Amino acid sequence: MEYKYARRMSEIKASEIRELLKLTEKPEVISFAGGLPAPELFPIEEIRAVNNYVLDRCGEQALQYTTTEGWQPLRKWIAERMNTQLGTSFCDENIMITHGSQQALDLSGKVFLDEGDVVLCESPTYLAAISAFKAYGCRFVEIDTDDEGMIPASLEKALKEYPAAKLIYIIPNFQNPTGKTWSLERRKQAAELSAKYRVAVIEDNPYGELRYEGDFLPSVKSFDRSGSVICTGTFSKIFCPGYRIGWIAGDAEVIRKYVLVKQGADLQCNTIAQIVISAYLEQYDIDAHIDKIREVYRRRRDTAIEAITRYFPSDTLFTRPEGGLFLWVELNEAINTTELLERCIAENVAFVPGYSFFPNKCRLNTLRINFSNTPEEKIEEGLARIGHVLKQAGFQ
Ligand code: PMP
Repeated sequence: MEYKYARRMSEIKASEIRELLKLTEKPEVISFAGGLPAPELFPIEEIRAVNNYVLDRCGEQALQYTTTEGWQPLRKWIAERMNTQLGTSFCDENIMITHGSQQALDLSGKVFLDEGDVVLCESPTYLAAISAFKAYGCRFVEIDTDDEGMIPASLEKALKEYPAAKLIYIIPNFQNPTGKTWSLERRKQAAELSAKYRVAVIEDNPYGELRYEGDFLPSVKSFDRSGSVICTGTFSKIFCPGYRIGWIAGDAEVIRKYVLVKQGADLQCNTIAQIVISAYLEQYDIDAHIDKIREVYRRRRDTAIEAITRYFPSDTLFTRPEGGLFLWVELNEAINTTELLERCIAENVAFVPGYSFFPNKCRLNTLRINFSNTPEEKIEEGLARIGHVLKQAGFQ
């Protein structure tokens, strides 16, 4: 059958990296490629108890359809949490529950993007945000980014050059893929520029709670006086990703648009998952749970930093993230990390080559390392293997 696919499908291709990374599913491979949380930290016993509690107490309601906006007590909890941690002033009406923050990104594309529209993003940026927005036919303009975040002069230049730009997509905390965190000043400037040029910001924050050192910073949204900033969040990294519960938060007017498009997408998120998470938050101490996660990931990050320092060539540059799941490595310009990955897979170790995270530009000598999903001894062993492959290729 010659299917008459939509035009957008010509833009959506299986990535060659995905094919390569399939090979990393073998148990003998030490993979730094995914972005998975540590499964041994999922609160399985508590979740079992809460599921029983919910089914006993309100099983009929938990298995029934619910509103598109989502379970009200959960939305209220999210609004209050964001207000305390991120300096926002949300109430439940500002929140819609989504299937992970990934769905919030997809729905943002649906709400804002027509074919040919421009999205301004960090360079590099989150791979699956590129895929989500690309499906709506947009073009990406990468904004120069340094250790403090997007460079305001570059952002302003692009806003002048593309006055019809629709979205600015940013990840200010422990960015995926670089692990970098925006400074306070840059957050203020991004909010100001978005208001000045009337371009909405999507502030994606899946990792903000996972800070291992330094002070928590207020969100870009907290500096927003014009309603231009829309936030996304998720339970994936502080609880578990399997329930697929995240959210989108913004002014009530824009959230109503998201509700309209979500109705067409899937009517609502899984009712029982929302009620179970809400009951868990009532009955257990999520902060104590997050502290446990932070403790484990902090040690894994430290191990990764030590191992890269010890085993990688001396001219290697890499980020030292204050939180999150990833660090970013820049190797000698002569190294192509896609070729390096092929050699590494033969040595049973994997990572994601950095070029996947650039929508247009290509930085072939970069790579992303995930440290949350691998125990410390394996982190050391895996990074030593990559160092060994580099040495064999003549890079010390
Ligand atoms: N945004 C970023 C930056 C991510 O890294 C991820 C995946 N970890 C997501 C959004 C989507 O996560 P989820 O759908 O599990 O909330």
